Amino acid sequence: MNAEILCVGTELLLGDVVNTNATFIARGLAELGVGCYYQSVVGDNATRLEESLRLAFSRADMVITTGGLGPTYDDITKEIVAGYFGREMELHQPSLENIKAIFERFAPGRSFTKNNEKQAYMPVGATIFENGRGTAPGLAVEGDGKIAIMLPGPPGEMKAMFEEKVAPFLQARTDKTLLSRTVHLFGIGESMAESKLHDAMIERQNPTIAPYAKLGEVQLRLTASAPNKEEARRLLDPLEREVTALFPEHVYGVDVGDMQSALVTLLREKGLTIALCESCTGGMIAARITEVPGASQVLRCGVVSYSNESKANLVKVSGQTLETHGAVSQECALEMAQGVRSVSGADIGLAVTGIAGPGGGTDEKPVGLVFVACVGPWGEKIIELRLSRGYQGERGNIRNLACLNAMNLVLRQVWAN
Ligand code: ATP
Ligand code: MG
Repeated sequence: MNAEILCVGTELLLGDVVNTNATFIARGLAELGVGCYYQSVVGDNATRLEESLRLAFSRADMVITTGGLGPTYDDITKEIVAGYFGREMELHQPSLENIKAIFERFAPGRSFTKNNEKQAYMPVGATIFENGRGTAPGLAVEGDGKIAIMLPGPPGEMKAMFEEKVAPFLQARTDKTLLSRTVHLFGIGESMAESKLHDAMIERQNPTIAPYAKLGEVQLRLTASAPNKEEARRLLDPLEREVTALFPEHVYGVDVGDMQSALVTLLREKGLTIALCESCTGGMIAARITEVPGASQVLRCGVVSYSNESKANLVKVSGQTLETHGAVSQECALEMAQGVRSVSGADIGLAVTGIAGPGGGTDEKPVGLVFVACVGPWGEKIIELRLSRGYQGERGNIRNLACLNAMNLVLRQVWAN
């Protein structure tokens, strides 16, 4: 089965609204193992919508639309799809009652206008997806080996409906289960990662390996298709072992979400606490760690120490270090980590100091030079990074990479000791 996504709305064509619905559905289809080779956008125009629908069905078994299910005259998706399948429209009583109940709840006393009733008219024989968050139900219409699935435009309503109703609806139509695992790599580029994977691994059909590059990170998604979960797991286990063995220096987890989650989980498991002293990252590491539920069990405190005075006063970097080596130096990074560790009483002190740019670089200390120090019960480790400019813009790129490198250093230190 292959599908096509067709988003309806003039606001999308005008660039007023970003087409996040297409991204969300595309990801959802990939997870369900449904191929998707085209996405398109069309305005709220009957002729062009009909044309787009015909074109999509000439290439795909299934078309998923979003938008145009509302009560106004320009919401025409259902009617056009009904026309395509040659179906009449009929009143769907449960939907009408549901819409009336929503009106009662949110706009008591306000008259229920005729055009609101329009939302309860459905093509004959449609499967209705109740909308738990809005008035417009979603629906599916099938015939002659084709399926149209229509979802509301507002992303909150669409997402919930896709996850709660459409995914099970599609899953029930296939006799296979798809299971995915994501291997997270840090400190390796996508092309390098790909070249390390053997050709046989990349060409394998089941399970498949798909690399995704993110800033500083590569994720390898392993997906197996099997009659049941058990069987899919049996296919994935050996591949996961093979893949992780290829990247011993780079793997930081499997299905861990992101680096901060991996870090919080590890520190919790080990019963370790951490304190941060951040200069060029300005609290970004603290922000990331506190994104993770349960961070309070591991994070003692974070100090944003931007000026030399604060480095001296708050975390006790010595005047001599600042004078002879400067704030961007391994000596300063180490004293920042030691200082914040001792004032907080945490098990681990982590410090970052560097030159994020665009100004402030010299030949000796160029933009992108960053020192990270990690001090723990096992001793200390300092790394020097030369971070290059990238697509995120030099400054943001350097700061983000500094965060990732710092968290990665802690992970590796804890594992090694
Ligand atoms: P409503 O009952 O709100 O009219 P609807 O199903 O008719 O719902 P639209 O009118 O097409 O949906 O869209 C409603 C709003 O949802 C749009 O103004 C826009 O903000 C958002 N929206 C629509 N389509 C998309 C999309 N593809 N991606 C992101 N947001 C979208
Ligand atoms: Mg609308």
